[in-house]
Amino acid sequence: MQSLSAFTRVLRSLDGKVYTGYRELHGEWDLGVAQLLVDHVQADPYAPPTRIRLRAEPALLVLPSDLIMDTDARVAVEDFLTRRLGVALELLGRQRRGSGRSGVILIDVPQQVVVPRSSVLVTSDFLEARLAIGLPSDGRRIRGKDAEAMFLEDLLYLMTQAWSTASFPSEALAAHVALYKDQQHVRGRLAACGLIAFIGDGALLARKSGNSELPMDAAVAVPFAAPESMRVDFSCPSGRLVTGMGIDRGVTVIAGGGFHGKSTLLQAITRGVYNHVSGDGREWCLTEPTAVKVRAEDGRRVSRVDISGFIDHLPRGRSTSAFSTQDASGSTSQAATIVEALELGSHVLLIDEDTSAANFMLRDARMQHLVEKHREPITPFIDRVKELKERFDVSTVLVIGGAGDYLDVADRVVLLDEYRPYDATARAREVVQTLPTGRAFEASAALRPARARAPQALPVGARLERLDAKSSTVLQYGDEFVDLSALEQLIDESQARAVAALIRYGLLHRVDGQTSLAQIADDLVSIVAEQGFAAISPFAGCSGFYALPRSIEIGMAWNRVRGLMIRTLDG
Ligand code: ADP
Ligand code: MG
Repeated sequence: MQSLSAFTRVLRSLDGKVYTGYRELHGEWDLGVAQLLVDHVQADPYAPPTRIRLRAEPALLVLPSDLIMDTDARVAVEDFLTRRLGVALELLGRQRRGSGRSGVILIDVPQQVVVPRSSVLVTSDFLEARLAIGLPSDGRRIRGKDAEAMFLEDLLYLMTQAWSTASFPSEALAAHVALYKDQQHVRGRLAACGLIAFIGDGALLARKSGNSELPMDAAVAVPFAAPESMRVDFSCPSGRLVTGMGIDRGVTVIAGGGFHGKSTLLQAITRGVYNHVSGDGREWCLTEPTAVKVRAEDGRRVSRVDISGFIDHLPRGRSTSAFSTQDASGSTSQAATIVEALELGSHVLLIDEDTSAANFMLRDARMQHLVEKHREPITPFIDRVKELKERFDVSTVLVIGGAGDYLDVADRVVLLDEYRPYDATARAREVVQTLPTGRAFEASAALRPARARAPQALPVGARLERLDAKSSTVLQYGDEFVDLSALEQLIDESQARAVAALIRYGLLHRVDGQTSLAQIADDLVSIVAEQGFAAISPFAGCSGFYALPRSIEIGMAWNRVRGLMIRTLDG
């Protein structure tokens, strides 16, 4: 660790020199309020910014040990400390200090959810912030004085503004942690209560707009109120009692007229695998952690997936028990995604009629008469959904606006009317009695358990292609761009970055041709949970720009990379 005076000496000597001189900053420096660890120095002012870590001097902020020792609490604390840095950065304002990215300071500030991130690390010994900064220059000439101001004024301002004990909002932190722990508690209790999802009374599910994560104005949004017959309550560790609608295991149909809030409700359930911050409106939307939103996704790649339970006897005898395609149709993509979800351990499928393939969901009585069964490869989902529940303990929540045949298979029906939910199960039973559909059950053979598949090692001598995230919905692997936009539960660019880093790590350290994709994906999440993101970061030190995805999203992303081979495991 070098001293502050050595640091300023180096910066002053660099003033006016060519940009590559900044490499001298690589290493560890004691800046007083914080230790500065420079992990990577950018090559020029336009290159990806310099990666640094700031370790707060221990007396800056001392957190109670119960917030550090408990894993859930620590996740919430790290999130809170990151948000504080974000607020301080706004106060600091944008600092332009020359060409390109000169003077820029980047912190990976989270949006509406709290998930494990690499932006801040809390241990019993220190608090560390991971940032990226643009080292200042005019063209290729170093602006040493600006660099000095950036490190010794801007960055130290951020640390003290965000974290110093004097102005630290300890009560807000305690509330942030308590909410997170309560959410974890309720989600953890769902299974024991026979539930797969919970939506709290008073929840605001609607968003400001289709591309916004922020809640709709509370003056216009209709707050959620559980139907009496479905109301459950939970008492939380903090002492608070929450009430709301519990969705039991089994098949749940969400019905109602167009524009009455069906998709919004399903979306809230979809997002309930994550914990939302106070003020989001979905704080008490909590869903079974393995729930997967499934949609049709034509054009996706499918590799060796046994979709024969849904699609079999293709024209010309093409087998579907290890089905592969570079360009799936709506129905084959949806079938493959369901089988892959089961393979990755999902126990809840979330399906919206709007984003499903119509022929995958249903063949009605008329179609059954017109096209004989042996000429139709598809066994529609309606004839598998009960079996999924009974034989595989896989529950389904479906939004249905048009295909009323689904009332036959629903264990319960939630009807939305002007955004208000009603328990319409009894009424649906009457409808089923008085208006039989006349359709015949079409599943002839039992659904087989999803077969494990194993990613294959790269060919001997092949180098690992470039693998990173271009955005929250696109990965790059070599020359290939992988579309992840159908993974609705991959919600953050930092999660996509982590997915890329995790797949990379998996390819280098876990893939052996025998270990299943599900196992590898689980292992990867465990590695981060136990050792932190530094363990999987391809860079020295640790990038501050990762957020933890679920193992399911890692597997789902892996399945979509055309350049990665995968093989069915026997037995
Ligand atoms: P559906 O799927 O039934 O057609 P959507 O869920 O797409 O309906 O909702 C239709 C519109 O109503 C959307 O613009 C949505 O934001 C809005 N909306 C949904 N729920 C609420 C609510 N509780 N209060 C106010 N507006 C809502
Ligand atoms: Mg809809």
